[in-house]
Amino acid sequence: MDKKVYLMCGPSQIPERVMNAMNKQVMSHRTDEYLEMHQKIEKNLKKVFQTKNDVIILTSSGTGAMEAAVQNCFSPGDKVVAIINGFFGEQFASIAESYGLDVTKVSFDLGEAADVKTVMNHVEDDTKGVLIIHNESTTGITNNLKDFGNALKNTNTLLIADSISGLGGIELKMDEWNVDVVLTGSQKALMTPPGLAFISLSDKAWEAVEKSTSYKYYFNLIKAKEYNKGNMTVFTCPVSIMYGLEEALEMLIEEGLENVYKRHSNNANLVRKGVLELGLELYPKDINYASSTLTAVSAPGEAKRIVQDLAKEGVIVGGGLPPITEDTFRVGTMGYVSENDIAAFLYSLKKIL
Ligand SMILES: *Cc1c(COP(=O)(O)O)cnc(C)c1O
Repeated sequence: MDKKVYLMCGPSQIPERVMNAMNKQVMSHRTDEYLEMHQKIEKNLKKVFQTKNDVIILTSSGTGAMEAAVQNCFSPGDKVVAIINGFFGEQFASIAESYGLDVTKVSFDLGEAADVKTVMNHVEDDTKGVLIIHNESTTGITNNLKDFGNALKNTNTLLIADSISGLGGIELKMDEWNVDVVLTGSQKALMTPPGLAFISLSDKAWEAVEKSTSYKYYFNLIKAKEYNKGNMTVFTCPVSIMYGLEEALEMLIEEGLENVYKRHSNNANLVRKGVLELGLELYPKDINYASSTLTAVSAPGEAKRIVQDLAKEGVIVGGGLPPITEDTFRVGTMGYVSENDIAAFLYSLKKIL
């Protein structure tokens, strides 16, 4: 292994165990051996999603699952509310618009978490869904999904959550919190290479899927659910990445989800404390909503240089995202990150500043 320190925001660092698990011959996705692996992965995914519902495995990046959610749960003309507090909120709204939905955008300032009351003021009896980013990777804000689940649970409106940069690093109790759709990707807190996406739907969401008239083929979730019952994907899946995923999920279960979440929150605390001590500012306005999987640091005009200089020191962090690309760098604590990695980062950051 090289000596670099990886604090990336996706793709994130792959543990050696996961790399080793992938280093073997492929098998057909229709063999008994594959079905057995799929079943095991499915069982562990349900634990991480904290759900009794099926977790469907899709071959795509995370965005594919965002698109699948929109095209399967809704029909053209359906009213949805899209919560926006960063780049990925905008992206979710754009996907909904491109499928002809009637999108009401509810925006918050960068660095602010979504406020339930403000959003609920825009939710009407005929609003079919609320689209939310659980962990907004632009600013490192974690929205309170539990509160939104509570607010929407006795309504006809679905709560659809993108937890691409959260799930596996930040607690998410899909069933208990009444989240109707949870989706994520393989390459962030799940410690697996990019290439897989996952989506789980509640009974209420499956009812909506039955009614959807949007065009769909590759991401037809009814078909995917049928195949998943037989421990298969509809089309060829990247078997090699699934070898890695199987191992990564085992690692999460071995460590214990509670311990995993604690490690993430502890590491993010260390990053925030160290960065503040060096006189830099953070995006989250209220520390209670600061993300455990990544920290967005404000460094107006300096961010690109800092990312490059850190890389020369062997510390890899993420750059900024629109609309704060030039002014932000992002320190990933998602997935396979230790306290030692944070210490090395802070040492190098101090040196280059
Ligand atoms: C990374 C990310 C995405 C995009 O995922 P891709 O895998 O690049 O398609 C979407 N939403 C959030 C919150 C993300 O962090």
